[in-house]
Amino acid sequence: MPSSTAGSAMRSPIWPFQQSYAQLPDHFFARAPLHPVSNPRLIRLNEPLALELRLDPDHLGSPAGIAVLAGNNFPDGLHPIALAYAGHQFGNFVPQLGDGRAALLGEVVDMHGVRRDIQLKGSGPTRFSRNGDGRAALGPVLREYVVSEAMAALGIPTTRSLAAVLTGDPVYRERQLPGAVLTRVAASHIRIGTFQYFAARNDVEALKLLCDYAIQRHFPEAARKPRPYLALLEAVIAAQAELVARWMLLGFIHGVMNTDNMSISGETIDYGPCAFMDSYDPQAVFSSIDQHGRYAYGNQPRVAVWNLARFAETLLPLLSEREGESISQAEQALGEFHARYEAILHRGFRAKLGLLNEADGDLDLANDLLDVMARGRADFTLTFRLLGDDLDIPGAQATARRLFEDPGPFDAWSMRWRNRLARDGSATSTRKAAMHGSNPKFIPRNHRVETMIKAAVEDDDFRIFEQLLAVVSRPFEEQPTLSYYAKPPKPHERVLQAFCGT
Ligand code: AMP
Ligand code: MG
Repeated sequence: MPSSTAGSAMRSPIWPFQQSYAQLPDHFFARAPLHPVSNPRLIRLNEPLALELRLDPDHLGSPAGIAVLAGNNFPDGLHPIALAYAGHQFGNFVPQLGDGRAALLGEVVDMHGVRRDIQLKGSGPTRFSRNGDGRAALGPVLREYVVSEAMAALGIPTTRSLAAVLTGDPVYRERQLPGAVLTRVAASHIRIGTFQYFAARNDVEALKLLCDYAIQRHFPEAARKPRPYLALLEAVIAAQAELVARWMLLGFIHGVMNTDNMSISGETIDYGPCAFMDSYDPQAVFSSIDQHGRYAYGNQPRVAVWNLARFAETLLPLLSEREGESISQAEQALGEFHARYEAILHRGFRAKLGLLNEADGDLDLANDLLDVMARGRADFTLTFRLLGDDLDIPGAQATARRLFEDPGPFDAWSMRWRNRLARDGSATSTRKAAMHGSNPKFIPRNHRVETMIKAAVEDDDFRIFEQLLAVVSRPFEEQPTLSYYAKPPKPHERVLQAFCGT
C-alpha cells in the first residue's frame, strides 16, 4: 500500500504497528477500551509466525509482551479499534454487529511486504458487545488456534493464530469456564458484513471509501481496470470460489457461513463450530445451532453464492448510474462463480486421485468414489491418503478397502481407477509423492480436539494441545509414531456437535 494511505507511522520498534483502517472515518469503528484481566498466562506463542510478521518473539513472550497479548496494556500511543459491521446470520439480516469482543491493535507489514491485521479476540466489551461479555472461553480459543494453524499447514488461505493467553478470570457460559484471549492475524478484517453495514444505512460515500480501501489493500490490480468496483466484485467472487472449493477438497465444514464471517480477502475466518468430516456425508453438519443444515458440507458452495449476492447488492449503487445496468453486471459476475469453483474442484480431485493428466471421465471417477464412500461410510481423509499408500499394493490387498462397510463397491471402483492410472503413464513413486502432497494424513479430528479441550479446561493440562498442534502442523508427513492422531473416531468417540463457543 502506498505510504499516503499507510496510516500513521510506526510508533515503537517493538510493536511496529500501523493503523491504516483507523484513518477511515470515525463511523467505521469504535475505540476499543482497555479491560485488564487478573492474571495473564501465556499458553502458546507462535514464534515462526512472529518472525514472519517481523515481531520479536522474545519480547512477545516477556511479561510486557504478554500484557499486550492479554489486552492488559496497549503499546504506547496506540488506540486499538473495534470494527463496525452488519451481517446476515442464518439468513436474517442484523444491521449492527461489529467487533463485540475483539480489538484491532494495528497492522504490520510482514516479511513478504503484506499488510496484516493483529487483533485480540476475547479482550473485553466494546461498543458493539450488545449483551455479550466481550470475552472468549479457553476451549474455543484452543480450537481456533489448532484448526487455523492446521488450515495454514494444509495450504488453505486462513487467518492465523499468533498467541493464546489465559486471563485468570472465569467466563460464564453454560457453566463457568477459564477465560482466554487469542491473538488473530488476518489479511484484513473486512467482511461482506462490513459492506452491508454501510449499505443498510444508504451511506454510499462510506461504501466508496471502503471499496477503495479494499481494492488498495487486497486487489490493487482492480484499480487499473476500466470498472474498478466491478473488478473488486469479480475478485472477491474468485477468491471465495477458490476458498470454498479448497474446503470441499479437504472435507472442511466452516459451520457459520454468515455474511459477517466471510472475509473479502478470501481467507477462512471465524472458527466457531467448524469441523473436518470423518466419514463422508455431504449432509454433514456439526454446529449445534444449525438446526436446518443451512451450512452443511454439501451446501457450502451454494451458501457462498448467496453470500456473494448479498455482497453484490451492496455495490449496486457504485457499479453504474443505471440500476438495470448495475444489476446485469452483478449477475454476470456472480455467474462466474460456478465455473471458477468447478475448475478448482476438478483440478483438486484429479490431484487427489493421482491423475497427472486430464481425461474425459475423471470427474465421474471422482464423483463415483464419493458415492461409494457415502454408502460405505468411509473416512474421507483416510480414503484418499490410503489410495496413495495402495499404489504399489495389489487391489485385493489394498488398505483403503478396509475403510468401507462393504468393500465390494469400492473394489469395483478401484479397478476402474487402476485402469485409468495405467493410461496416465507416470512413475508410481512420482504419483505417490504427488498424492501424498494433496491428501493429508493428519487433520484436527473432532474427537481429538474435544479431548484436547477437556484436558486443558478441566485439568489445566496443555500437553495434548501441544502435541495435536505439532501433528497437524505437518499434515502431509507420515509421522509414524503419531499415527494415533490419524485414526477416525470409534463409534463411541464420534463427536456429533460442535458448539459455537462464544
Ligand atoms: P461470531 O458468532 O463469533 O461470529 O459473533 C457474532 C457476533 O457476536 C459478532 O458481532 C461478535 O462480536 C459478537 N459476539 C460473539 N460473542 C460475543 C461475546 N462474548 N461478547 C460480545 N460480543 C460477542
Ligand atoms: Mg464472527
